[in-house]
Amino acid sequence: MDIILIKYGELALKGDNRAFFENKLVKNIKEALKGYDGIKVEKTHGRIYVECDGNVNEVIDKLKKVFGIVGITVAKKVDLDLDAIYNAAIELMRSYSGKSFKVETRRPNKSFPYESMEISRMVGGKILQNVEDVHVDVHNPDIVLNIEIREKAYLYSGITDGIGGMPLGTNGRAVVLLSGGIDSPVAAWMMMKRGVEIEAVYFHSPPYTQERAKDKVIDLCKKLSEYGQDIYLHVVNFTDFQLAIYDKCPPKMTTIIMRRMMMRVAENIANKYGAKALITGESLGQVASQTIESLYCTNEVTHMPVFRPLIGMDKSEIVEISKKIGTYDISIRPYEDCCTIFVPKHPIIKPDLEEVIDGEKNIDYEKFIDSLVIDQIKIKQDS
Ligand code: ATP
Ligand code: MG
Repeated sequence: MDIILIKYGELALKGDNRAFFENKLVKNIKEALKGYDGIKVEKTHGRIYVECDGNVNEVIDKLKKVFGIVGITVAKKVDLDLDAIYNAAIELMRSYSGKSFKVETRRPNKSFPYESMEISRMVGGKILQNVEDVHVDVHNPDIVLNIEIREKAYLYSGITDGIGGMPLGTNGRAVVLLSGGIDSPVAAWMMMKRGVEIEAVYFHSPPYTQERAKDKVIDLCKKLSEYGQDIYLHVVNFTDFQLAIYDKCPPKMTTIIMRRMMMRVAENIANKYGAKALITGESLGQVASQTIESLYCTNEVTHMPVFRPLIGMDKSEIVEISKKIGTYDISIRPYEDCCTIFVPKHPIIKPDLEEVIDGEKNIDYEKFIDSLVIDQIKIKQDS
């Protein structure tokens, strides 16, 4: 019988933490595969096994988007019996004509009466007798045939990489400030990869930003939801607030003040929905509002941790991840995320906190925040 064998990471986790991690991973795998027939997910000592009725490749594609999985392979599962193991090994090796191989055995189940080395040697011998045109190379084999002796015997060769990270939902919730750009979806994904469930907020300024810019953010949420969660997107109608900033603050400070307002609104949403941190797509030095002085001023309005997983990355590295995770093509659609008319010609590059606070003194931001209209859109996985 063929079975999907899953290896998972973070083995350094200990005690209760580890059980929590493993149970959540099993739950997430079941959730990801709930549309398929005959799925059985089982966990034993450091491995998760998935049985399915056909659809193996589709199931594997789903598993490639489950955080916490480091490796996926299809294994043959047979009884703990030498002949059964020989037959499975011979069958497996028949597809590798012309190749060199070696057998590697692990035996966590010590009740099986042969040692690992012995099993490898015996199985290797049977393969040589029964499979044409294969030969042994213990130093540099084309194929490693793995045998694991557990409550059953599992045989497999080759392993596909999983995406790694920690199971989604094992590290709380955070609100991501999600624009339609390249960076923030990558930032969101990187925190999801560390187990953080996300809630998204998008600042929309119609008619200065088009509907299609909002649709882009919705599509980005859809893409992110494929990695294992429904996403609530909070669309903040930001027009009046932004016009007030434009009207009442020094032009060179409008961007930094707008960023501070966004953080305040995001923190409010986080508090309301039980999130404990904020996430942005900022990368040090990328633009005027991302210098160390600007980040200092932006950070000052919130007590929450602000996660900026891209802070030390080059644009090319960020682009590479966005292509890998599938957000790039959506992000580069040509609609502006934040209306260019509000961007000052000469933004301040090294703002001084006292001056910024003075610069926003004519805005009654608490009143604005209270009166904001926020639409909530639920983006379901598989939608
Ligand atoms: P991105 O590629 O994510 O748009 P960026 O390089 O364009 O980032 P900025 O425009 O300075 O950088 O924005 C910095 C961060 O502020 C973004 O990564 C995002 O987290 C947040 N942000 C900016 N504009 C918006 C918006 N309209 N709605 C929600 N968040 C936003
Ligand atoms: Mg942007």
